[in-house]
Amino acid sequence: MPSSASLFTRAQQLIPGGVNSPVRAFRSVGGAPFFTRSARGATLTTVDGRELIDFVCTWGPAIHGHNHPRIRAAIAAALEHGTSFGTPNPYEVEMAELIVKFFPSIRKVRMCNSGTEATMSAIRLARGFTQRDKIIKFAGCYHGHSDSLLIKAGSGALTHGHPDSAGIPAAFARETVVLPYNDPAAIAAAFAANPGQIACIILEPYIGNIGFIKPDAGYLQYVREACTTHGALLIFDEVMTGFRQARGGVQELEKITPDLTCLGKIIGGGLPVGAFGGRADVMDYLAPLGPVYQAGTLSGNPLALAAGIASLQMLEELNPYAKLDALGRQVVTAALAAATAKGLPLQAPQTGSMFSLFFTPTPVRDMPTALASDAKLFGKFFHACLAGGVYLPPSAYEAWFLSTAHEGAAIDRACEVIASAIKSL
Ligand SMILES: *Cc1c(COP(=O)(O)O)cnc(C)c1O
Repeated sequence: MPSSASLFTRAQQLIPGGVNSPVRAFRSVGGAPFFTRSARGATLTTVDGRELIDFVCTWGPAIHGHNHPRIRAAIAAALEHGTSFGTPNPYEVEMAELIVKFFPSIRKVRMCNSGTEATMSAIRLARGFTQRDKIIKFAGCYHGHSDSLLIKAGSGALTHGHPDSAGIPAAFARETVVLPYNDPAAIAAAFAANPGQIACIILEPYIGNIGFIKPDAGYLQYVREACTTHGALLIFDEVMTGFRQARGGVQELEKITPDLTCLGKIIGGGLPVGAFGGRADVMDYLAPLGPVYQAGTLSGNPLALAAGIASLQMLEELNPYAKLDALGRQVVTAALAAATAKGLPLQAPQTGSMFSLFFTPTPVRDMPTALASDAKLFGKFFHACLAGGVYLPPSAYEAWFLSTAHEGAAIDRACEVIASAIKSL
């Protein structure tokens, strides 16, 4: 097996930056990425033979741990019948029934192939339905990489210092109103400044893409009411939080009913999938019923949906959310104790299996407070953890993810490594 170093040398000659998604390149933490040969449960095995406890979980999908036998069996069973048909297939109906069952706000749903497609299509649908062009998004929220949404975006776009991408026409950017998160007055001002022009507000109800940030009490309720008052649609981007914070996502926990919801990640069980759904009257604006076009050669792919259905069925049977929350609490408690002992300021927002460690004395509630954290110190912390066999998101501005497979020895060992890494800073 070639080493990570030799693979990365070859990759850099052929693939821009050597990676197919920027954050994988380790630019913000320094050093070169490892290549993974295999993954099982809470563990990644690198091509160099190292075993790492993984807090990335393929950026969220692997809520049952990597390479779960039941998901593998579901894919194998579907594979017996073929890889893609280009016609309707039974898995699509089963998946739609599962999504609608757990998300009462979703009466109809359309499958696509990524979270990016889901948010891009939901925005187009909102514009078509309202016959308005402008949208509101929030600084630090990442909704995939389509043009309208890659403005003041979080995640890899932010990590690489370009929250606004080159290649987006100024005319497109003008249709996207970017506001600070957790600031109700900014929303009121934006509606006043753009009367009758705002098609929708899109947001991550809990932000996971600038690190993990939660809304202030009452904020989501305010956003809901402002949309209703001004005839704009409310889009919850639950690509990351859907089926992770609860089976019904953040909207179940916070008791908010959005008009449209975007899903992805967990609903694909580790294969490429996205979905968007919501009010039936809005969804019926989609082709072939309505005037808003949206399509996909591989949409509703049988292998991806078989994997996703198995993943959702396990969440239905196991209801692992209390367990995942306890695991998350164990990690942040260990980190906070180590930071206190060391006299190091640390913020550790956590709900369920998502959390972040921000090296800053200031509570993190929006993009500026996240950016005020010490990213350089995070890089040092990241490498100390990696040396100890624990793999964190390779950026100070990403959420960490847990799976049910972390329970037991993996979480105990990881907490020890994290605490001693903090001590070493
Ligand atoms: C990951 C993510 C996306 C994009 O999904 P892809 O499958 O990477 O295109 C969109 N929104 C949120 C909130 C995400 O976390």
